[in-house]
Parts: sequence; structure tokens; C-alpha cells
Amino acid sequence: MEDLNPFHIANQQFARAARHVPAHDALLESLARPERIIQIEFPAKMDNGSIKMFTGFRVQHNNARGPFKGGVRYHTSVTLDEVLALSSWMTWKTAVVDVPFGGAKGGVVCDGKRLSVDEKRAITRRFVTQLGPSIGPMVDVPAPDVYTDAATMAWFYDTYDMMHKGQNNLPVVTGKPLELGGSHGRATATARGCIFCVEEAIGRGLIDGVRSLAGTRVVVQGFGNAGSYAAMFAHQAGARVIAVSDSSAAIMAAGGMDADQLIAHKERTGSVAGFPGSSPIPPAELLELECDVLIPAALENQITEANAARIRAKLVAEAANGPTTPAADTVLHQRGIPVIPDILANAGGVTVSYYEWVQNIQDEQWDPETVDAKLRRKMVRAFHSVFDIAADKRLEPRTAAYVLAVDRVARVTEMRGIWP
Ligand code: GLU
Repeated sequence: MEDLNPFHIANQQFARAARHVPAHDALLESLARPERIIQIEFPAKMDNGSIKMFTGFRVQHNNARGPFKGGVRYHTSVTLDEVLALSSWMTWKTAVVDVPFGGAKGGVVCDGKRLSVDEKRAITRRFVTQLGPSIGPMVDVPAPDVYTDAATMAWFYDTYDMMHKGQNNLPVVTGKPLELGGSHGRATATARGCIFCVEEAIGRGLIDGVRSLAGTRVVVQGFGNAGSYAAMFAHQAGARVIAVSDSSAAIMAAGGMDADQLIAHKERTGSVAGFPGSSPIPPAELLELECDVLIPAALENQITEANAARIRAKLVAEAANGPTTPAADTVLHQRGIPVIPDILANAGGVTVSYYEWVQNIQDEQWDPETVDAKLRRKMVRAFHSVFDIAADKRLEPRTAAYVLAVDRVARVTEMRGIWP
């Protein structure tokens, strides 16, 4: 049986790349380890008047290149090992796109999908309060992730601001509402960056016989922030979105679906299920549909040793974190199916988080076109840096992305030296 522990997987991915990075073993060993693990047990009052205890984590993996940075997820499957993996992926992600942040991740074990607004606010406020000085605009900057959003970030900001009066606290979190220091283009940034990568992949000739996104068949797993907007941008570019899923259903329509109408349908009904003109399919079959571009945009461990041989996509673009296991990476590589790895494909989110942070520090708001153009430049440069390394060293794209990232973090660590 394949080991699906996310932290073990992150370590395997790191080890595959470390051999190709010219740094001392001790330095490499230090980069594999998280700098600090914070676990918090805290109470929150539920709508029915009861008090419930929750467990929250913040793992600060590395801050050699800048403040710790990364989202916070509210999900029942959150574990320390998952947050450990996700925090290291943030370190490599910020290094791949070359924004001056380190990597961190947070999570609260709770049913983020079913909590009421009041319960979510109560959990957020208490979690931020107990994190205390561990977060801060120049220390550690949280952001949204699975089942957290702009509203959650507004409470994050407000709670921190109440505790630190008289200073500009806006840069303490990113992914805030536009009216409260958020950036244009942040909500759509993860998907936007992912689609930029797909377009560059097509431009580089990575999909045989395909010259443009227009007319391609796209399958999207997950219909949250990343998946829904990825479907929207693919649809806008003239691709056929032939199948999508969310946590409750998977649907298909061979002729393609109007992603804007699908987003409206999900907002109205709470699920993609029953979208007019579509038919339901078993969720496990969604990943195995014949298509040009498969976009996993849900959770970890979706493409594994168990189904990698049956994937019939010509390209995989990881909008989610950790959807493909190392064993599956090997199978897909052998089968000639390129994978645009998460630490590149979904780095648009943290890139625009960086732009939000800069705007907050400068007390400015950039227009949407400025953000979009800057994001595109960053993503295009990162994409070709990764795929140039993959071609030169004959590596899987994920390993190439790690080589680029680990080398960048290693150099800075070396320059700074050990202190005291
Ligand atoms: N949670 C997102 C990610 O996994 C965004 C992190 C951020 O913007 O800091 O990349």
C-alpha cells in the first residue's frame, strides 16, 4: 500500500530534488525541517449554546526569504502532518515565483463547510487571539485556504487590529475583502495563474497537436475558489469544460458547460449537482475521463498509484495542493503526461497575496489590469524557469520546480549564515 501521509510525501518530493541541488547535506537537512510548530487548543461557543473545544495548528516552515506566509484551512481532515506538508509547499511555492516570503500553513480541525457564520467567526477570533505575537505583518501573514475566505480574513484582521491599536495592521493577512484592504484579482488569482501556466504549456508544445486553449476539453475536480474560477477562465478562453465535481457530486456534459451559469447554479443550490444539460457521473470516474487538461482543484492524494495508469488527460495542472502522489508522478512521467506541479500551478494565489501586502504597506490600491499584468509576468517567468530545468536535467516538472526553489532558499540561507 502506498504511504499517503502528506508529510512523508513532502519529504519524498524534497529528497528527489535535493540530489540535484549543490548545497551541503546539513543545509539541505535544515531546509527539510519546519522552524516552528504551534498547536493550540481553544474553546468556541456554538449556536446551540454549547462550548466546543477545537484544535488549531500553525506550522512556520521557513522564513529565510521573508515573513512566513500561507493560508489557513478549516476542515475535518486537518492533521499536524498535513499542515507540516502544506507549510513546506508554501516555502517552495513562494521561492518558485520569487516573491519575498517564506512558507507557513495553518489549520483548524472543524467542519468548515457546515459551521454557521457566527461559529466560524467565534473560532477565528479565538484562534487569532491565541496565536498572539506568532503572527504579524512582518512575522507571519495568513491567507484563505480550504473553507476559509475573504470574510474569514476580515475577522482575522479585525481581531489582530483590536489587539494592536495605533498601527497599520492591514498587511497581517491577505485575501481580505476589497473594501477592507483586499486586492483586485486576489479572489481569482489561483485560477488565473493556473490557466496562465496551461497556456504556456500549450505554447511550449507540451500537449501534442494542441495549439491553443480554445477548443480543448477541460475537466475540473473541485469547485471552490480555485476550481470554479479555473473553469470560468477556461470557458472564457474558448475551452470546453466537459466535467466538474464538488464535495457532493460530479457532473458531465460532453459538449461543454457555461462556467458562469454553473457558478450561479452552485451559488443558488449549494452544489454543481443537477446543472441543466449535465448528467451525473461517479466522482471517482471524473479523474479518468479522456480530456486535454485535467485540473485537480480539491484536496491532496487524488491521483495515486491506484489510478495513475488510468488517467487519460494529456496535461495535469494542479490547482490544489498535493493532489498527486510521488508514485503517481512517476507513472505519469513514464506515460508522457506532463504535470504542472502545485508549487507552480497554484502559486498565483500567493503572488497576488504579495501584491496585496505591498499595497497595504504603501497604502495604495492598484487597478485590476495592473495586478493581472504583474501576475502574468511572474507566472510566465516561473513556468519557463521550471520547464527549462526539467528539460535540461531531464527531471519531472515537480522535481524541477523543487530544484529551483530549494536552490533559491539554500543560497539565501548560506548568505545569512547561522546567528547567533
Ligand atoms: N492558501 C493558498 C495557497 O495554498 C494561498 C496562500 C497565500 O496567499 O498566502 O497557496
